[in-house]
Amino acid sequence: MGELVVRGGTILTMSPGWDVVAGDLHVVDGRITQVGGQAVPAGRDYEILDAEGAVVLPGFVQSHLHTCQTLARGRADDLPLLDWLRRVVWPYEAALSEADVAASARLAFAELLAGGTTALQDMGTVRHTRAIFQVAHEAGIRLTAGKAMMDTGAGVPAGLLERTQASLDESAALAAEFHDQAGGRLRYAFAPRFVLSCTEELLRRTAHEARRLGCRVHTHASENRDELEAVRTQRGDDNVAYLHGVGMLGSDVGLAHCVWLTDKERDLLRDSGTHLLHCPSSNLKLASGLAPVPELLDAGVAVSLGADGAPCNNNLDAFVEMRLCALIHRPRCGAGALPARQVVRMATWGGARALGLEAKIGSLEPGKRADLVVVDVSGPHVAPTESPYSALVYACRSSDVRHVVVDGATVVRDGALLTLDAARAAADGRERARRIFSRL
Ligand SMILES: [Zn+2]
Repeated sequence: MGELVVRGGTILTMSPGWDVVAGDLHVVDGRITQVGGQAVPAGRDYEILDAEGAVVLPGFVQSHLHTCQTLARGRADDLPLLDWLRRVVWPYEAALSEADVAASARLAFAELLAGGTTALQDMGTVRHTRAIFQVAHEAGIRLTAGKAMMDTGAGVPAGLLERTQASLDESAALAAEFHDQAGGRLRYAFAPRFVLSCTEELLRRTAHEARRLGCRVHTHASENRDELEAVRTQRGDDNVAYLHGVGMLGSDVGLAHCVWLTDKERDLLRDSGTHLLHCPSSNLKLASGLAPVPELLDAGVAVSLGADGAPCNNNLDAFVEMRLCALIHRPRCGAGALPARQVVRMATWGGARALGLEAKIGSLEPGKRADLVVVDVSGPHVAPTESPYSALVYACRSSDVRHVVVDGATVVRDGALLTLDAARAAADGRERARRIFSRL
C-alpha cells in the first residue's frame, strides 16, 4: 500500500480535544503516522493528495443504510411507513435477483464514496446479502452489514418470509464468511428487521447468537406511531421496552429512528449504552416525527447519523443529513441546539462508535486507520466561512468532496471515483429498476 501524504489542509482531527491543525497528514501502510506539520516521505514511491484550500476530516460513517433499496429511488414517494413498506419496498425487495442486489449496492457505494462516506452499517435484504459484501470489497468501502431477518409479519410477501431457524442459520453462515474479513474492513451485524417482522423466538436467539459470535445487532425501533401501536397490541409493551425484555439492548446494539420513546425507554437506552441511529431525511419524508435528539444527547445517549434508504430520502448524502440534523430540532429546542461542531462529531466519530470501531477509525490520530475525506471549502457557496465546522454543516455539498481515502487506499481523487464506474452503475441501475417495477 505504501505511503500517502495529504498535503497542506486544515485538519479537523475530531480527537477528544477537538484539535484542529494545519499542514500535512502522513499515512504509512494504511495507518496514520503524523497529523500536522510537514510530512517527509521515507520512501521514493508515495502518493500526494493536494488539500490546499480544503478541510481534511475523518470519513463520514453512516450508521443506518439499506443499499439494496437504491434501485427503488423515486418509486415510493409520499407514503407513510407501513404503506411504504407493504406497497412498494417489500414487494421490490422480494423481486430482487442477486445481480439486482449487487447493482443496487454498487450504485449506493458510488454515491456514498463520492460524497465522502467511508464506512456504513447496512441492513441487507432477506436474500442475496452476500452480493453486498462482494461489491463492498471491490468498491473499497468499509462495511458492517447483515441480512435482514423476517420470520413473521402482516403484509410480508412470501419471497421475504423465512423460517426462524433458516434465518439464524443463514445469518451465521454469512457471519462466518464475512465477519472481520478484508483486513477488518468487512464486518457482520445481525439484522432483525423490526419487531413486527420478527417472532420473539427469533429476537431472543438473534441477541444470543450475535453475542456468541462477537457481532453487533442492527435493527429499527419506534419509527412510526402505527408501528408502535401494533407492537403494543401484539407484544403487550412499548417497542424499546419490549426489545429490552428480549435481551436486545446494549452497547453492541444500534436502533434506527427511536422517534417515539417513553421516559422509561430513554433511560433504558442510556443505561444500556444502546446506539440511536438518527435518520433526519427519512423521518421527515415518511412523516414519522422527530427523535428527541438534543434531549437524548444531554441524557448521555449515543447518537449517530444515517440516510436510511434511497426510497425514503432520496439521497445517501452525509452533508444533507448533517444539515438537517443541525436544523430540524431548532424550532423545538432553540437556535443553540446541536451546534455544527457537535453534528460533525456525530457524523464521524459518533458513527464509528455506533459500529464499535472508534478505536480504529472516526478521528485522525496517529495509530488509527486512514479513513478520511478532503472537502474543498473555497467555492462561492462556502467562502468566506472561517469555521470549518460551519462550512461543512451549513454550506458545503457532497460535490465539494475532493479526495476520499479508505483504509489508506485512495478511492476518490480530484472528485473522480476510482474503484467503481459511477456512470455505468447508474445506467445499469436504471435498466434494472425499469425491469423490476414493470413486473410489480
Ligand atoms: Zn431503515
